[in-house]
Amino acid sequence: MTAGAVRPQCAVQVDMDSFATLLRYYGYPSDDAPEPFYDLVIPRLIELFNEHKIRATVFVVGSEVRGSAGRWLRELITAGHEIANHSHTHPYGMTRWSPQAQEQELIAAEQAIVSWTGNRPVGFRNPGYDVDEPLLALLESRGYWYDSSVFPTTLSIPIRLMQIWTRLRRQAEHGTMGRLSFLRAPRQPYRPAAQSLWRVDPARPLVELPVATLPMSRLPFYGTAVLSWGSAYAAAALRQLRSEDIVFVMHAVDVLGPDQDQIDPRLNHHPGIRLPVARKLALFKSMFEQLAQSHLFVTSCALATAHRDSAWQHEISDGSRAHAPAPCAS
Ligand SMILES: [Zn+2]
Repeated sequence: MTAGAVRPQCAVQVDMDSFATLLRYYGYPSDDAPEPFYDLVIPRLIELFNEHKIRATVFVVGSEVRGSAGRWLRELITAGHEIANHSHTHPYGMTRWSPQAQEQELIAAEQAIVSWTGNRPVGFRNPGYDVDEPLLALLESRGYWYDSSVFPTTLSIPIRLMQIWTRLRRQAEHGTMGRLSFLRAPRQPYRPAAQSLWRVDPARPLVELPVATLPMSRLPFYGTAVLSWGSAYAAAALRQLRSEDIVFVMHAVDVLGPDQDQIDPRLNHHPGIRLPVARKLALFKSMFEQLAQSHLFVTSCALATAHRDSAWQHEISDGSRAHAPAPCAS
């Protein structure tokens, strides 16, 4: 995209991974009892996003949408946000499953989302930032417009080593951080080639929305990095990304803190988790303020639509890009 010609867009995304999901990731047993997770997180997110006029995309785990969670999904839609699919049971290694098992997992989450919202999701992120061609083909066959599983960051290498270290000590989940070839993937939204997902195939309809990384270094720009490395890192990152489209990923736990919420002490080593809630929200607020000066906040569906067909990319009067209204819920 040419700097200055059109305003770049930012899709803010939230993965609704619960405490139980995080505990399993670190190799601790957890029960499946309903948690007050959505009750804690969603009001904070809606307030944060309202303040900055952000229309976000919330990736939900289908099996965790029960009780009050379903009502919160409808609240999110009413507030202008998008609901997307983050699998049904948050498994790692879904790319090693049979096509039938992958399809069942995807459909189960879709059905949970449809039953609570009436809307079919058009976006997907696989837990563990991994994806392969059968999974992308499955998404296309079910009418999805985008995938957002590629995270082409150099930090994936040390994170992989940490995951191996954790697994040596406990029966932790196999979080994958994708495949090394993704380090060669475009940093901007693109249409992935069938057999080499890090290559571009402009003829493909499905759009890949890679998680934001910095030019050259490919350091990650997502919620965990902002909480871990602070406002100076966020400001420096935004200067580098000033003229680019951004897919900014947060996790629900990023707006929870030990001062206000009951967080299992076994999660104390999760990056940023011990910061007080007010400190976390202040970091995100100052970052979103800076982002609002250079970017237009859009849902992931709208960002994918802008990249899906170049005919849609033209400047309209307010400096943003026109995009097709369907299938993005308005
Ligand atoms: Zn997740």
